[in-house]
Amino acid sequence: MKTSEPLLLHACCGPCMTVVCEQLQKEGFEITAFFYNPNIHPWKERERRLQALVEYAYSKGIPLEIDDEYPLEENIRILMDTDNRCCACFKDRLSATADKARELGIENFSTTLSVSPYQNQSFIMEAGNAASLESGVRFIYRDFREFYKESMRISREAGMYRQPYCGCVFSERDRYLRLKSPGQA
Ligand code: SF4
Repeated sequence: MKTSEPLLLHACCGPCMTVVCEQLQKEGFEITAFFYNPNIHPWKERERRLQALVEYAYSKGIPLEIDDEYPLEENIRILMDTDNRCCACFKDRLSATADKARELGIENFSTTLSVSPYQNQSFIMEAGNAASLESGVRFIYRDFREFYKESMRISREAGMYRQPYCGCVFSERDRYLRLKSPGQA
């Protein structure tokens, strides 16, 4: 069923944004993208991912909200002060998205995170539902993993920057040690 409701889409990077945006637009959602990812370390890496997203959003005429703060200390505290840093990471980003949606008067929010076959979908769903309960904004969950390869193809062909690790400094280390993050499927 088609809708024509506005939706704030939490976007982690340009490549994931491509197919997720397309699919939600097919459902009729009017997308505004939101970049809030203080989990991306270091700064330079965050800038590269943000730049790719800005260029993609601009090329498609998608409005983009950017959280310019980079609360690194707070983010490290959030990731350290838990048994499962990925759950805390999803929760932080989706809560911020739900709060931003409420501030903008947008009644739905979603995330590009669920396109990744490497992320645990249940953790994403739980974080989104919890943020929805707290904010009163509806969480639109979709399992977009079947479009992951398509997002790789589109981003490769467009010469878009594609990140070599999930985001935090721990995941940057773990790629060399071949360790799984606690949020990996
Ligand atoms: S591995 Fe990814 S999802 Fe997990 S805490 Fe790090 S950045 Fe967040």
